[in-house]
Amino acid sequence: MTSPTFAPRIELSDHARGEAERVGILANPGFGNHFTDHMFLAEWTPAEDWHDPRVVPYGPLQLDPATAVLHYAQEIFEGLKAYSHADGSVWLFRPEANGERLQRSAHRLALPELPLDWFLGSIRSLVETDRAWVPSGEEKSLYLRPFMFASEVFLGVRPSQHVTYSVIASPAGAYFTGGIKPVSIWLSEEFSRAGVGGTGAAKCGGNYAASLLPQQEAAAHGCAQVAFLDAVEHRWIEELGGMNLYFVHADGSIVTPELNGSILEGVTRDSILQLARDLGHEVVERKVSIDEWREGVADGTITEVFACGTAAVITPVGTLKWNGGEVTSGDGELGKVTGAIRQALVDIQYGRARDEHGWMTRL
Ligand code: PMP
Repeated sequence: MTSPTFAPRIELSDHARGEAERVGILANPGFGNHFTDHMFLAEWTPAEDWHDPRVVPYGPLQLDPATAVLHYAQEIFEGLKAYSHADGSVWLFRPEANGERLQRSAHRLALPELPLDWFLGSIRSLVETDRAWVPSGEEKSLYLRPFMFASEVFLGVRPSQHVTYSVIASPAGAYFTGGIKPVSIWLSEEFSRAGVGGTGAAKCGGNYAASLLPQQEAAAHGCAQVAFLDAVEHRWIEELGGMNLYFVHADGSIVTPELNGSILEGVTRDSILQLARDLGHEVVERKVSIDEWREGVADGTITEVFACGTAAVITPVGTLKWNGGEVTSGDGELGKVTGAIRQALVDIQYGRARDEHGWMTRL
């Protein structure tokens, strides 16, 4: 089936904020607090396929109380960023990878796949309309949140016959202010995030709902994030609630848990597989047990641990805590290997290094 033509209607906002307000927000945007003046919307039905693509003023969605997503959580999303380069041009990092992951998530949640040209077109049309909201400056970006949900008004449990796709955009400041410091991680032994045959490899809202109680437990133990184990043996490390994990070994090799159907395939994770090889490291995807983490850090086999994802790029992991113990890798500072990989990645994203792998798309 050929995909429907993408020709968005653009309706400009009468209430767009003035330059002074925008500049004030962009000076210190934080994360996820502020939204740009417009949003993208499109609809899907079995009869009409994808239709009515439009950029409209940002504002509330009116939902009937019986809208299916509110009851059965048939919803997926993505996260990627637009970066402003020194010459004022605006770029996206591997947007096709996010578009393809949205298609895989759609398949698992019985939602219609959005054609890749619609995904890229939706982002392009929104960012072009709200281009003034792309912040410039060290590690600032415009965070883009594409999402798709069951918008049929019907309480039967079956795939929705009306689906809405949207993109909103939120200026984001540097994740770390005042230097990159290692975070502490709580090991969740009671709760799992995803199981074999479940939705762990899909980016669906339900996975994040399931991570919130263990996240509260982590916070109660002074930890910033939760590490989840596999749901069957409670032995194999999967990932954090919103980031993938890497382990740097004393021999220079770098290990990340292999994809097993319940880990989210991070775009950052995938990019690091390549970048670490470019930097001369042997990179291995395999199972990593929780004992390997604890013992490897304790006996020095593992020298650095880091987490990676679009929001924070790369975050060093210091202490792993669990009920009854903890181990700490590193000396409380950013590790050498972690720092070098992080620098290589942000230099590409911000246009300071050659884009050898063709990852950047100019708007
Ligand atoms: N795992 C989970 C569960 C996530 O939510 C994310 C963030 N999308 C990641 C890993 C990292 O993925 P990415 O590098 O594509 O942001």
